Formats: sequence, structure tokens, C-alpha cells
Amino acid sequence: MGTDPNELGSVPNFEILTELGLVPTWRLRARAGVDGAPEAPAAPASARASDAPEAAVVPVRRVDAPEDVEARAARIARLEWRDFAADVDACIACGLASTRKKSVPGVGDTHAEWLLVGEAPGSEEDAKGQPFVGQAGKLLDNMLAALGMKRGENVYIANVLKCRPPNNRTPEPREVDACRPYLDRQVDLIGPKLIVALGKSAATTLLGVDATIASLRGRVHQYQGVPLVVTYHPAYLLRNLPDKAKAWEDLLLARRTLHGAVAADAAPAAK
Ligand code: URA
Repeated sequence: MGTDPNELGSVPNFEILTELGLVPTWRLRARAGVDGAPEAPAAPASARASDAPEAAVVPVRRVDAPEDVEARAARIARLEWRDFAADVDACIACGLASTRKKSVPGVGDTHAEWLLVGEAPGSEEDAKGQPFVGQAGKLLDNMLAALGMKRGENVYIANVLKCRPPNNRTPEPREVDACRPYLDRQVDLIGPKLIVALGKSAATTLLGVDATIASLRGRVHQYQGVPLVVTYHPAYLLRNLPDKAKAWEDLLLARRTLHGAVAADAAPAAK
């Protein structure tokens, strides 16, 4: 029998390493006793490298050496929908990976004109793996229905964070930074005509400003070249019913913007 390059004990091929999650993190092995590397303890005779190839490169598990931030962002920027949810689910780029039950990548029409972006999954979303499935989600569905729209039809719903922060605390900047490549890829893949930021956290995170909802709503912003309208978070509206009328105005502004009636940054600021 000839040497099978896929056999354990020989140098495994790239596909197998990929399957095992051992790429793209490779490290050039320092030469023992040179390059400041300690001398390796002598291997047992049975495991001596007499039969091992003199490979200078060894694969390193991601857990030992986390994927480089830029390499990760570049990889996510090339993800296709078929791999997207699994990639989010395998993500360990921040601590939320260890506290979430399910990741919540997003849901809806993958070529929607409307992209709604909330803050982060809550406990029901964490349990189900779907965004906005609790009481706030019901209100969101009603707001869509008032516009003659339905979840999943010309609408995609996502969050800034794909995993639930413990006790629904506010997302931390490093969590937002770690998760942003996923949202940006969603924007690229969907190609929405309009983004609606639901609540202060989503709005300020996406716009990179520290401002109140009152100062941000009533005009059209931009995110990644896409017009963005800010409105109240449905969970806030559940506690502040009178502001529903303002949210309705925001959605009408969003619809006019989508239909080209309002240009980004051209509308007057909210009073
Ligand atoms: N709040 C959010 O911001 N997102 C959800 O998915 C649920 C509640």
C-alpha cells in the first residue's frame, strides 16, 4: 500500500485540517534551542520523529491561539449565507459564547429591503435562537403589520450582538467590536435599502455616537452607505405607550426614505 497523505502520522492535507478547525491558525515551529525556544524533552523512542516528516509548520488549535482579529474579520466578510449561522454558532470571540444557550444570528428574507437591528437577544431569544420572539417581538410584529408588512417578507431582523449578555446587561464595547463583522456581512449579503435601528443601544452603536434617541430620530442617517432611521426599542414602547405615536412617525419616515422621498442626512433633526 502506498502512503496515504491523509493518514494520521503523515502530514494531513488542508481539507482535513479545515474540517478539524485547525486552520487558518498556523505557527512556524521555533527551532529547539535556537530562536529562544527551549529544548524539547526527548520523545519516547516509540514516538521519535525518525518516521515523522521534518515539517517546519505545525497546526495550532484555535483555542490555544485565537484567530487573528483581522484574519477573522476578513474571513467573516467572505461568508456566504449557507455558512453564516454555523459560523456565528461556533464563534468564541468574546465571553458571551460561554454564557449563551443559543446564538441568534438573525431571521428573515435574505434579500429584504428592510433590515431591522436590535441590541442583543434576551432570555427568550437565547432559548429559541430567534430574534425578537418575546413580548417586544410581538409588538415589533404589530408595528410591521401596521405598515402592511410581515416578519420574513421583505424584512430581515438582526441584532448588534448575536449572543445574549448575562442578565440582559448593556453590550460591552469589546463584544460589539467582536460581533460587528457579522452584522456588516449581513448588510453586505442582504443589500437592504433601509436600516431601522431599534433603540438607543443599536442606534448609538451603529452610528458610533453617544446621543439620545430624541436627538437621533426624525432624520435619516447612514450605515455602510445604507440609509438608517432610528426609533424606539419595542421593549421601551411596552413601558412607555405614549411614545408609540413617535415610533409610528419614525416608521413612516423609514417608509418614505425607502421610497426615495427622503434623502439621507437631508431631513431636519428631531426637536
Ligand atoms: N431585544 C433586542 O434588542 N433584540 C432581541 O432579539 C430581543 C429583545
